[in-house]
Formats: sequence, structure tokens, C-alpha cells
Amino acid sequence: MFMKRNLKLFSLLFLIILVIILKVGKTSKDFSVMNAEKKYNTHTDLNNTTDNLPAENTITADNEAKEIPVLMYHHLLKSSDIKQKNDAIVSVEEFEEQMKLLHDNNYKTVSLKELQLFLKGDLRLPKKSVVITFDDGYLSNYTYAYPILKKYGFKAAVFVITSRIEKESHKFTPDKLQYLSMEDIESSKDVITYGGHTNNLHDVVNGKTLLIRSSADVAEKDLKTCKDILNTDYFAYPYGQYTEETINILNKLGYTMAFTTQQGDVKKGDNPYTLKRYFVGPDTTIERFKTIINFKK
Ligand SMILES: [Zn+2]
Repeated sequence: MFMKRNLKLFSLLFLIILVIILKVGKTSKDFSVMNAEKKYNTHTDLNNTTDNLPAENTITADNEAKEIPVLMYHHLLKSSDIKQKNDAIVSVEEFEEQMKLLHDNNYKTVSLKELQLFLKGDLRLPKKSVVITFDDGYLSNYTYAYPILKKYGFKAAVFVITSRIEKESHKFTPDKLQYLSMEDIESSKDVITYGGHTNNLHDVVNGKTLLIRSSADVAEKDLKTCKDILNTDYFAYPYGQYTEETINILNKLGYTMAFTTQQGDVKKGDNPYTLKRYFVGPDTTIERFKTIINFKK
């Protein structure tokens, strides 16, 4: 009788302990999910505004960036849609791999505004910082790059040839070269800063762009139109071509930064009208990409 009662008590105690273990286990599991979400959210926020960059006092001399690489992309297509190799086309798969590498190694994507502050010495940035840019304003930037950038909490800039902005948004078709519409531009501004790439002086005649072939008056009118349409202070020279006169016009119109296609990093104190970038194309291997971003494990 005594033994039986003891066994009953023991079973009950065992049951209670089991329930407690299960409960605690479940709670800690929920907690870890919550923590992961919280971590992810914090990470997303980090990339949203200047205010949320790592506090400057957490940047020591050891991890402070002396130079920032600015990446330059153009068009993106799924590898199965690339019929012919073109220097301006990077596959979506490779772009995703490059973005994942940046994300998994805690790189921060810097906005043009933040880069400008860095240039002036008004903002310190961590070593693992990078600027992502696209030239020309292709619809593929919105169709393919935008969701990938958004997923990783990244930011980027797109330099648009404003005369090519589509009147209305189109469904993406890989075999046509489509451009962004004003609606596409508006709905991607949470991730993308838009800059100018001339209104209609992007074409090349005998190796020189229309921008540098045009008289100062024509160039000024074009660059003002471009600036007004996008309401931007940033510019990228078509094919990287510029003259002293181009810089003077940009300055006069109130553009504050302009990017070339010359390979190299942006350093504090650089001339804001001749900023270097790194070309990323179909031949850019992941090893080359790692060299560009100064990858360290
Ligand atoms: Zn271009």
C-alpha cells in the first residue's frame, strides 16, 4: 500500500517535471525565434538611415574606413535569359551571390548622402562599407535588384537617363531593353536613391559622348532638365567622360557629387566631381569581387 502510494506520487512528480521541461523548452524556442527576428529587424534598420549606422563611437581607428569602394552595375538578367554575353549584363544569380557575400560578412551599404558626409570628413564609416550603383535606369534594376537589396536591408543608387523614363510601368520582358517609369522610381525610393545620367546626351558619336560634344548651353539645359525631373544632387558621367566645363556646369546647377568610371576607391577629401567606381560585369569573378570590396574574413 505504502509502496503503491509512493509510486503514484513519484509518477505524478515525474509528470509535473516533464510538463515543466516541455514548457521551458518551448518558451526558450519561442525566445530564440523572437531574438532572430529582432536581430534581423535591427540589421534592416541599420541600413535605413544615417542615424542608424553603427554609432560613431563604436568605430575605432582599427575598423574605420579610409576608403570606400563604389560598385557600378548596369543591366541584370537571369542567366537562362542571357542569349549573348554583354559587358553591361550581370546575371541575377551572380548579383545575388555578391549581395549574399556582403550580407553574410556584415558589410554595410552606404547611401550617396552618407558617402558625401564621409567625403567631407563629417561621417566615420566602418571598414566593411560599400556603395552600390547602377547606370542608365533599366527596369531590371527594379525587377531583380530591388527585391534582393530589400531582402538584405541594403541601399543602392541608380543613375537615370531621364529622356528614357517610360511613360507607364511595363511588365518585365527579358528580350527587350526596358527602362524605369516614374511610378517604378517612386515605389523603389525606400531602397534606391536616384541620380542623373543626362536627360538625352548619353549616346556616343565617334568615341565621344553627346554630353562632352555639346556646347555649354546645350549641356546646361540638358543637365538642368535631368536634375529637375529627378530632383537630385547626384550625377554619373555617361561612359565616365567629362571635361572641366562639365564639372563647372554641374556645380553651377547645384549637383554636389559626380561619378566617373575610373577604377578605384573613394577617399576622404577626394574631388566630389570625379569620384571613382569599380566596374562589375559578367567577367567579375567572386574572387575579383572580394578584391574590390577589400574582403577580409
Ligand atoms: Zn550609361
